[in-house]
Amino acid sequence: MRGIVTDIMRFSLKDGPGIRTTVFLKGCNMVCKWCHNPETLSINPQILNYPERCIGCFNCARACKHGSIVIEGYGAASRLAFYTEKCIDCGACADVCYTGARVMSGKEMTVDEVMAEVSQDVNYYRNSGGGVTVSGGEATVQPEFTLAILESCKKSGISTAIETNMLADWRVFEQLIPALDLVMLDVKLFDSDAHRKWTGVGNGRILENVKKMSACLPIIVRTPVIPDVNDTAGEIGKIASFVKGLDNVEYYELLLYNPLGESKYQALGMKNRFSGRKPQTGEEKRLLTEAAQACGKAVRVM
Ligand code: SF4
Ligand code: SF4
Repeated sequence: MRGIVTDIMRFSLKDGPGIRTTVFLKGCNMVCKWCHNPETLSINPQILNYPERCIGCFNCARACKHGSIVIEGYGAASRLAFYTEKCIDCGACADVCYTGARVMSGKEMTVDEVMAEVSQDVNYYRNSGGGVTVSGGEATVQPEFTLAILESCKKSGISTAIETNMLADWRVFEQLIPALDLVMLDVKLFDSDAHRKWTGVGNGRILENVKKMSACLPIIVRTPVIPDVNDTAGEIGKIASFVKGLDNVEYYELLLYNPLGESKYQALGMKNRFSGRKPQTGEEKRLLTEAAQACGKAVRVM
């Protein structure tokens, strides 16, 4: 069993309780216009390019067998030329780029390889109440691989969680539930048309799935708070009313806007329509928190 992994982050404190290792899978079934991990949207491996880190060693050009990076000119005047249309995202250039100017996002891994990494911190999980979280992209876009990781964790006595947008067919979640201890799920917008406008899909099935999941497992409901998308007390209040009717909610969490993904958009040659936007602070944060508290559950703001 193999899957495409973008990253395995150890000692994470943000992806569930305790100390965790988060396995980020590649591929998403939504296209949120504010996505701060744009390298995870496509399931295919991709090259990220950070020219400011380049020291001109030319290793990448020597490694590229597809004519996408070539050395042009002679002697002191030689320089790299990029023909991106010829790139097949094979990753050979990234393998020999030791400064991180060329980075491969997405690596094929077996379940055993993933387990070899996540098993290193078993004692930390046990002592902190942590475990392993499978995230993305979207964890359910590679459902068999996600299930196999979760089942292997359970066999090793490791607590499990997923981070999910809840868009997948309910049958996918039904298969994952026996191998899960916790589900961290997003409710991004309450109005379905607005949801479609900003994510590419309506939210009818998502809200239904959230209700079903809340009857099965402990859940953490999260809303990424995005400037001019859902950052009003009215919108957060609507989601809070929905959360109020759910069972098994550990807490409702607002994730304030995080501009950190900006460099990745540049590295992928993609346009970021939220470029330059700032996280909510002060009075905005207070009003949003107050609106979230209408859910009647514990509320966290990150
Ligand atoms: S291998 Fe990396 S550092 Fe060297 S020339 Fe290529 S991009 Fe620059
Ligand atoms: S990913 Fe492969 S084809 Fe693309 S530039 Fe690098 S070595 Fe060449």
